[in-house]
Amino acid sequence: MTARVPAKVNLQLSVGPPGADGYHDLVTVFHALALFDEVTVTSANTDSVVVTGEGARSVPLGPDNLAARAVAALVDAVGPGVRDSPGLAIEIRKRIPVAAGLAGGSADAAGALVACNELWGTGLSHQELSEVAARVGSDVGFALLGGTAVGLGRGDRVTPALAAGTYHWVLAFADGQLSTPAVYAACDRLRARAAEPGPAGKPASGGRAATGGKPPSGGRPAPGSTADPGGRAASGVTPVSGGRAASAGKPASGGKPASGGRPGTVPPPQLDTALMAALRSGDPAALGPLLSNDLQPAAVSLLPRLRQTLAAGREYGALGGIVSGSGPTCAFLARDGAHARDLAVALAGAGVCRTVASVTGPAPGATVISVPADGRPGGLPGGSEAGRPVGRP
Ligand code: ATP
Repeated sequence: MTARVPAKVNLQLSVGPPGADGYHDLVTVFHALALFDEVTVTSANTDSVVVTGEGARSVPLGPDNLAARAVAALVDAVGPGVRDSPGLAIEIRKRIPVAAGLAGGSADAAGALVACNELWGTGLSHQELSEVAARVGSDVGFALLGGTAVGLGRGDRVTPALAAGTYHWVLAFADGQLSTPAVYAACDRLRARAAEPGPAGKPASGGRAATGGKPPSGGRPAPGSTADPGGRAASGVTPVSGGRAASAGKPASGGKPASGGRPGTVPPPQLDTALMAALRSGDPAALGPLLSNDLQPAAVSLLPRLRQTLAAGREYGALGGIVSGSGPTCAFLARDGAHARDLAVALAGAGVCRTVASVTGPAPGATVISVPADGRPGGLPGGSEAGRPVGRP
């Protein structure tokens, strides 16, 4: 049984202060991209995980693999009797780069959930599967859903968003990887530094964390607000309101409250209503300048060459550009498919990233695309758009 699962970019990623558990309260707008991993599950005598493709060598093969964790969570939820064999062979074909801010691991978890749900005929509804997904990771629920959606909490409370049209993106993959907890920790440090009193006894940022929160309206940063040390001013592509990561309010340091983050100096995150209106209009020129990522300054501070990548996107005419989630992938919005192709060629030629990919969004969430030869219905070879949706409605 094979499922296809999309990568994601966060069109808005607003990060609140870390809570007592070290997790940050998030408001995010997820957008699934037509860049897919495939996850195949097959009944077997023993458990195994095989990973091939992009970045496969840095993916764990044991029970820590997020697909294996998702299967374990499903078995926990439904009961061990659901298994139809002593073991399960999981095969993951990766096209989504690893630790790249595109939630590839969460995508694989969602793919394993959908595929096992089908293989074992558990008949769980989408809602029931989403509850299992939330136990595996914050982004897994969105990977099940796909499309464009608002995520709250740790990003795990997901609601579909009204969005018109198809958007054309160019992804610039970086040479390195970034750890999501490390990016959150850097975000907290930058915010703490910005909140330190300046000469006049005011916070150095002029009252707002330089890397953080949004104005109460949830919209753009206040005019004249301090430029993000590593992000907005440096990259310039998109006015970025601060910094936050992709896969959901991760604790900055092993589940402990993040050092340096000062609750009280960062306002609670709010949904950007202008961005939501732009999505409803389907106009990429309206959407481009509204992309925002509170984690961008932190990602750029850890990988300063992202400045060049973001600047190159602006120079070559992207409507907006942003670090995707916790990075280091940069996502650039193009006017249309032809513009995306030109932008991709220009970025590849500029030597500011490892490689580029031109993709569209929104894409469907985790979808069963093929079934075993014994032929339960609905199988589609080779990643057709018409795969079956997840679970019962
Ligand atoms: P996050 O979702 O935390 O923002 P990301 O999108 O930047 O992360 P992922 O590709 O999901 O990055 O990988 C995050 C970590 O999860 C990596 O360190 C990787 O080793 C681990 N991991 C576990 N299982 C998988 C998997 N199936 N695919 C990719 N990474 C996995």
